[in-house]
Amino acid sequence: MPSTLRCPICRKEVSLDSPDAPFCSDRCRTIDLGKWASGDYRITSPILDPDLLEDVEHALQQQHPTKERHHE
Ligand SMILES: [Zn+2]
Repeated sequence: MPSTLRCPICRKEVSLDSPDAPFCSDRCRTIDLGKWASGDYRITSPILDPDLLEDVEHALQQQHPTKERHHE
């Protein structure tokens, strides 16, 4: 089993023991975080899908139905 892996940013070999693994350095880790933050990985946010949002609202209503039964 290899004891090194490749930095996903710059492809440099990184020791598995490195505190920055799987990145070669704190710099590359920051670059990776920046990519996520700037949407380079294009994560689709399902909650922004209007259809799905409707489903979620529907599901929530079923979980917490409006009180129709009264305890007396
Ligand atoms: Zn790197």
